[in-house]
Amino acid sequence: MGTPANIIAGSHVWVEDLEVAWIDGQVTNVKGDDVEVHASNEKKVVANLSKIYPKDEEASPDGVDDMTKLSYLHEPGVLHNLAIRYQLDEIYTYTGSILIAINPFQRLPQLYDIHVMEQYKGAPFGKLRPHVFAIADIAFRAMMNEGRSNSILVSGESGSGKTETTKMLMQYIAYLGGHKGSEGRTVEQKVLESNPVLEAFGNAKTVRNNNSSRFGKFVEIQFDKYRRISGAAIRTYLLERSRVCQISDPERNYHCFYLLCAAPQEDIDKYKLGHPKTFHYLNQSNCYELVGVNDAHDYLATRKAMDIVGISQKEQDAIFRVVAAILHLGNVEFAKGQDIDSSVVKDDKSKFHLQTTAELLMCNPNALEDALLKRVMVTPEEVIKRSLDPDGALVSRDGLAKTIYSRLFDWLVDKINFSIGQDPNSKCLIGVLDIYGFESFKSNSFEQFCINYTNEKLQQHFNQHVFKMEQEEYMKEEIDWSYIEFVDNQDVLDLIEKKPGGIIALLDEACMFPKSTHETFSQKLYQTFKSHKRFIKPKLARTDFAIAHYAGEVQYQSDQFLDKNKDYVVPEHQDLLTASKCPFVAALFPPLPEETTKSSKTSKFSSIGSRFKLQLQQLMETLNSTEPHYIRCVKPNHLLKPSIFENANIMQQLRCGGVLEAIKISCAGYPTRKTFDEFLRRFGLLAPEVLEANNDERVACKMILEKMGLVGAQTGKTKIFLRAGQMAELDACRAVI
Ligand code: ATP
Ligand code: MG
Repeated sequence: MGTPANIIAGSHVWVEDLEVAWIDGQVTNVKGDDVEVHASNEKKVVANLSKIYPKDEEASPDGVDDMTKLSYLHEPGVLHNLAIRYQLDEIYTYTGSILIAINPFQRLPQLYDIHVMEQYKGAPFGKLRPHVFAIADIAFRAMMNEGRSNSILVSGESGSGKTETTKMLMQYIAYLGGHKGSEGRTVEQKVLESNPVLEAFGNAKTVRNNNSSRFGKFVEIQFDKYRRISGAAIRTYLLERSRVCQISDPERNYHCFYLLCAAPQEDIDKYKLGHPKTFHYLNQSNCYELVGVNDAHDYLATRKAMDIVGISQKEQDAIFRVVAAILHLGNVEFAKGQDIDSSVVKDDKSKFHLQTTAELLMCNPNALEDALLKRVMVTPEEVIKRSLDPDGALVSRDGLAKTIYSRLFDWLVDKINFSIGQDPNSKCLIGVLDIYGFESFKSNSFEQFCINYTNEKLQQHFNQHVFKMEQEEYMKEEIDWSYIEFVDNQDVLDLIEKKPGGIIALLDEACMFPKSTHETFSQKLYQTFKSHKRFIKPKLARTDFAIAHYAGEVQYQSDQFLDKNKDYVVPEHQDLLTASKCPFVAALFPPLPEETTKSSKTSKFSSIGSRFKLQLQQLMETLNSTEPHYIRCVKPNHLLKPSIFENANIMQQLRCGGVLEAIKISCAGYPTRKTFDEFLRRFGLLAPEVLEANNDERVACKMILEKMGLVGAQTGKTKIFLRAGQMAELDACRAVI
């Protein structure tokens, strides 16, 4: 990336540093490729010339609001620029048309109030300080003027501020396209109020974020021919189901459980609730309360939001009854039964919870007990009822809880969509995507695999867009760009999604074949992708595999892949709930079509991976039909505190978010662009005779380039375009004058 020319003793440079990623300093000596630097922390460092980057001594102390204005476009320059702006509470910075948003971890209300909205309305892009509103505004204007759909893609790691950013975008879009002064609930009100409802059921405290969204979301806001909001659709992706039954300290389960436990006494009595400590699904972690959050207040607020999005009182009652039922179900424990490998409900306490679960779900308690403890086996000869051992019964119980919860969540999304209403005549929309960023943990499972797959898809979309934007800029300036290439990540996508033969296809195959285990699945992967350059069999690994993603290598543990890929509702559970006397519960489990029930009692396998792949394909089709805008959210530190800027960590996020990739694409072309005026001011002294001759600015710039013998640099219509390293060359010449 812009390897420097002309690094000499005395040059101001950036050099790599283990602690702070990049540190500035001054070159004291150059011996061949070894450069000796006196760093600003007083350390002496020797580094290879290729690892040294020139520092712009003339850079503004306040930084630049658009990275493309940097004289030196390279990693340390980008990082330093963000750091100085962040210290000044300037949390937004552009890289061309991409907005980088660094989470301030403190409320900055003056940044988002109605006056600010007014200012950004219709303001030319780049005139005001970088802002989320500016991005929403160009999306809206583009739609107004060209009648084209637009989308805004918000990404970043957990806790980086995606959901907050999305909410501000939606508020601004509602401000622009809303129905002022109209009566009744407007579409935009319902869209905005859908947030607290979905957050209550789909967000949880994790170690990374106190309000972490455990699902992906794409909101499509539709406009009528007067460009007013006329409908909306919310699509959600991959809710984390395992959290319902399993949490680790100091995380929490989904917010709704704690809200309900803090409900007014009347509701507590009705649902036989108590302190969250008394429920197994909540007491696996010692965290019950969140700083700054009042669960009792949020319970009422959630119900109010439910009113607004059109969920009736009766439905709300049923929803919370189901939530309470899940808590009680989690407290049902099992003990060994008399027969070998059988189990019974453990004690009176467990019996009470079983009874309560059945009451709340309005199903027969004996049928519930049977559904938890027994399985029906259909063989060609006969139908056998087989008992589960206590461990099997636990798996059965948790499976039931997860299924009910995920059906409840889907119901909420459907209901909100129905209540908001779609506009079938809408010709254009603005889509807003809030989806999990790239993840690489110590241990990575099927969820991380799907998340990283999503990010590969979005990365490809992003690269293509950035590349196109670059080309457009070059074309506008009428300069030559024909030789610029960039490397695609299609090979990783093929590895994952190719049909047949990709990882998802092989996983489905393994899930359909009864004798498969994660060992046989991994063996199959190792064989199939032996020579794939994006697939790695880690040394010593027996069932792990690794993928070289665009953002780095991730090692996956395959042991739960098969289980997690199966979306499988035990037929006994299905039958139990279909028969519920509560119409709400029964509707969550509509009877399966005839043929699937007839074919066997072992219900058909449906692949979560393949369904997700299809959802992603649809999402990409929608996105491809829109003009995209990108917001990259960055989490400045792991402490979730204001004013702390962790360099190395931020660098990694810029890499994962494709910001560095975008910069690389620019660097492959012309990373430095200066208006004629800027160029002359900086380099005029290299050719005073040109300035004196009173030439036209463009001609003067051209003459300087020629005099300096810069090969490949181009003169556009309004700007000079320099290739990587050329800025340093010119600066070095200037320094010796
Ligand atoms: P996840 O992937 O876990 O859902 P996220 O990227 O959606 O994470 P958010 O929930 O949006 O992250 O943000 C985390 C927290 O950071 C918020 O709860 C809020 O406290 C703070 N935050 C984020 N953006 C802003 C902002 N613009 N102003 C003030 N605080 C913010
Ligand atoms: Mg979120």
